[in-house]
Amino acid sequence: MKVPHAHQEIMLQVAGLDLELEALAARLAELQTGAHLDALRTSLFAASSRMLEQQTQLENLQQELHKLEDDIELVDKRIDLDKQRLSSTSSPKDAEGISSELRSLAARKSNLEDQELEIMESVETVSALVDAESGTRSTLSQELSDAEAALAGDITKLASKISIVATDRAAKFAILTEEAATLFTKKASRGIPVAALKGRDCDACRIGLTSSAYEDVIATPADEIATCPNCQAILVR
Ligand SMILES: [Zn+2]
Repeated sequence: MKVPHAHQEIMLQVAGLDLELEALAARLAELQTGAHLDALRTSLFAASSRMLEQQTQLENLQQELHKLEDDIELVDKRIDLDKQRLSSTSSPKDAEGISSELRSLAARKSNLEDQELEIMESVETVSALVDAESGTRSTLSQELSDAEAALAGDITKLASKISIVATDRAAKFAILTEEAATLFTKKASRGIPVAALKGRDCDACRIGLTSSAYEDVIATPADEIATCPNCQAILVR
């Protein structure tokens, strides 16, 4: 088939643009999955789970602390009452009984206060953990939203680049005669439609032509189409 050499060059450019479009579309599809953000999402989820656990632990400790404070208050009331009773009794037997009760109340109070101190320390420790985890969570959350915004930007840029390349491709393809365009499309449905002859190698299948095939290609007039005997790509030389 006769095709002006300049049009053969255009066919080669269109084939190159098609390869570029294919790579760009693959890259776009990959970006759209957002898979590279999965690690960040997993870390954020883990930090949120840990924070929730620690918050629950903190609430339980605080409840325990309130209960102890109530218990201590009750013991204090009982001590005050016993002290009043002690000061108003005239019976040595009653006084002995009240004193004994006061001693055990004091021991109970001391025990409750020890527990209170222990829990207050735990509250402090767990509060610090919650604060640290909350900080980690905020940082990760910010990183994720930044990454999502960057991803949206990258997708927009890539989509716009695809549109520019596709427009360029369409403009170049429109220059071809109907016959050349049909041949191009038919060959493109089977593989790379047009390739450069690089030395003795076809740039589509990367296979070197035999001497006689090479001689044939070289002998073909410039405005006629030569084809790679291996992959059937149009060879532009
Ligand atoms: Zn080939």
